Amino acid sequence: MNARTAALLAQLAQRPLLCDGATGTQLQGLGLAPGACGELWNTQFPERVRSVHRRYFEAGADLLTTNTFGGTACVLESHGVAGRVHELSYAAARLAREIAGERAWVLGDMGPFGGMLEPLGETPVETVAAAFREQAEALLAGGADAILVETMSDPAEAAVAVRAAKAAGADLVVATFTFQKTTVGYRTMMGTTAAAAVAAALEAGADIVGANCGTDLSLPDYELLTAELVAAADGKPVIVQPNAGSPKLVDGQVSYAESAAEFAESAPRFLAAGARIVGGCCGSTPAHIAAIAARLTST
Ligand SMILES: [Zn+2]
Repeated sequence: MNARTAALLAQLAQRPLLCDGATGTQLQGLGLAPGACGELWNTQFPERVRSVHRRYFEAGADLLTTNTFGGTACVLESHGVAGRVHELSYAAARLAREIAGERAWVLGDMGPFGGMLEPLGETPVETVAAAFREQAEALLAGGADAILVETMSDPAEAAVAVRAAKAAGADLVVATFTFQKTTVGYRTMMGTTAAAAVAAALEAGADIVGANCGTDLSLPDYELLTAELVAAADGKPVIVQPNAGSPKLVDGQVSYAESAAEFAESAPRFLAAGARIVGGCCGSTPAHIAAIAARLTST
């Protein structure tokens, strides 16, 4: 294991760590059109991407997430730039690394490939495994300290991504799933429980597991979900990254309900439920992360 990753785990053993908040909604605030390819900004507008990382770093985030959620060839293909995987993810990792410096760590972000794996869908596992591996290699080459496989619904896809990240040489892989509340409890879109999702990620070799960006989950829901994740995690650290409520249209603008103060209030409860890393997903801002940081240092 490399020294930086070892230092991350050593810190985590001593204190809870703070992850950053949303990247996509922050870039939209800087002019990225919804549905546009945000990864292109890593080379087109590097200063804008850097500015998002800088604001989270200054808010107190220990972990910065690269702007590469849709950076696999599978997703980039839909924007006509499937050949630019290495260039865009490498550039993204460099940008985050520049801001993280010695005080923070860089999580190389990999989101879903955007389709359904065989046998439920039509995409062969080998295609997706190769795509995740290509992206993970670029993120690591650019200076990512760990790989974050996030917003997963299909445990099989998460397992493919985790294995690909390990095969690419990642010392540390984080895997998070996105849940919704159903009449029978918290489930991913594929109907997977927290226990089954975590088990699949751990079986594939994930070192840290958790949840991000749920659908219609309140902060108290995240607290209950955290307890389920911790129970399933077999002693591995758990990360929780709530979205700031569900997006709503207010006066033609997309707006998120949960305030920074509400976020900060709930952070100690996530930790009490056993989480070791907290951060934010869609709609959360540097103000949310700063509020959590202030709360965590005062308790
Ligand atoms: Zn999100």
